[in-house]
Amino acid sequence: MDKEPRPWSAHALAFPYPAQGHINPILQFCKRLVSKGVKATLVTTRFLSKSIHVDPSSNIDLETISDGFDEGGQAQAESWEDYIATFKAVGSETLGNLINKLNDSDHPVNALIYDGSFPWALDVAKQLGVLKVVFFTQPCSVCNVYYHVQRGLLPMPLSGPVVSIPGLPLLKVSETPSMIYDPSSYPAFYDVLLDQFINIDEADWVLDNSFHKMEEEVVDWMAKRWRLRTIGPTVPSMYLDKRIEGDRNYGINLFKPNSSACISWLQSKPIASVVYVSFGSVVEPRVEQMREVAWGLKRSNCYFLWVVREAELSKLPENFAEETGEKGLVVTWCSQLEVLAHEAIGCFLTHCGFNSVLEALSLGVPMVAVPQWSDQPTNAKYVEDVWKTGIRAKPDEEGIVRREVVELCLREVMEGEKGIEIRDNARKWKKLSKEAIDEGGTSDKNIDEFVAALIGQTI
Ligand code: UDP
Repeated sequence: MDKEPRPWSAHALAFPYPAQGHINPILQFCKRLVSKGVKATLVTTRFLSKSIHVDPSSNIDLETISDGFDEGGQAQAESWEDYIATFKAVGSETLGNLINKLNDSDHPVNALIYDGSFPWALDVAKQLGVLKVVFFTQPCSVCNVYYHVQRGLLPMPLSGPVVSIPGLPLLKVSETPSMIYDPSSYPAFYDVLLDQFINIDEADWVLDNSFHKMEEEVVDWMAKRWRLRTIGPTVPSMYLDKRIEGDRNYGINLFKPNSSACISWLQSKPIASVVYVSFGSVVEPRVEQMREVAWGLKRSNCYFLWVVREAELSKLPENFAEETGEKGLVVTWCSQLEVLAHEAIGCFLTHCGFNSVLEALSLGVPMVAVPQWSDQPTNAKYVEDVWKTGIRAKPDEEGIVRREVVELCLREVMEGEKGIEIRDNARKWKKLSKEAIDEGGTSDKNIDEFVAALIGQTI
């Protein structure tokens, strides 16, 4: 551990939305800043801070603010709308107080890196005279869809068979984010997602956890409008380099992982023989969908490691463990990067949260996409048709991916002709991901440029 005070060149305060898929990339970005001599402090809510721990060797400080729900977090709010509105009212004050407190310390704040979900944080940064840096944890392509709707450039409701947006391939309506093709089902989310772009023109920097080659056209289009820089993938280099021994403490887990059980189970399996399955930290698939995935896995006869969060376990078929025996391991959480980096993994059946997609792409793991909502259908489109590192499992008219489809897709990716092409592409994208973040790569240079601006600001 580095105990000597470091001669920090600047201080960035990073403020993710309090959820796993937002904290992970922003924390990893903080680590990159630290490695380049910038002091980084992560801000989270008082409630969440009770269950998280930042590894002291990361040199990242943790500060807390109130979101108005110190005892129970989001679960304490009447609704998600209530949570977001209260967070804005209380957080505007508590975040401002925190910046004032830090400005009186040895390390005044130069920049507030705030999650796109908190556009009000821009006003806090503006008032206190620090750089306003918005961080998007979703890909640029998805951001551009929301931006076009927010500015009225894409008339709603969507009509016609396809949607045309600059920098993106033509999207079928069902390939747009679910809040866009079905806004009435998610009114609160719709507003929050569009509001991300309400004041983007005032941001000093717009950072996105993607990399240039992944979304070249849309990145170039957006970079003409804002100082947009791609800084991803924020996957720690130790995984990209397969040097995972000795440092497994790479992030913050909001759920308790069962890492040793997963890894010892994977050790006993042949190379590229296991399907890793996860629907991430938020999605609650329908019971029917979980059962179809379960029986599809059994039918495929592949080994599988399936993350089913504690609260979702009852959705598994009753006799599933007996029916599948040695073939499968179900855990309630794992260190996903460690699992994806393991040579026994042959494919990832994923809900296509952007972090999961980026992690699989960076580690060269082929995917079977089973998107559920939000940006996931758009990410799945890119997996299948743009990066070509996987296939999308087609749902039926009720929106359920049936067991036969799960089986077929797994066979295609693990054993079929198509699998050969997909694995070649997965290897290619793994190399490109590493190039982007390695010294002198596009994302690395963008981070250097950002750091230079932070330092410049301190002079
Ligand atoms: N994750 C994990 N262990 C698990 C499942 C997920 O560490 O068992 C991590 C995963 O590596 C990713 C994040 O949780 O970084 C999930 O983010 P994503 O954007 O994929 O999905 P979300 O949870 O936001 O829907």
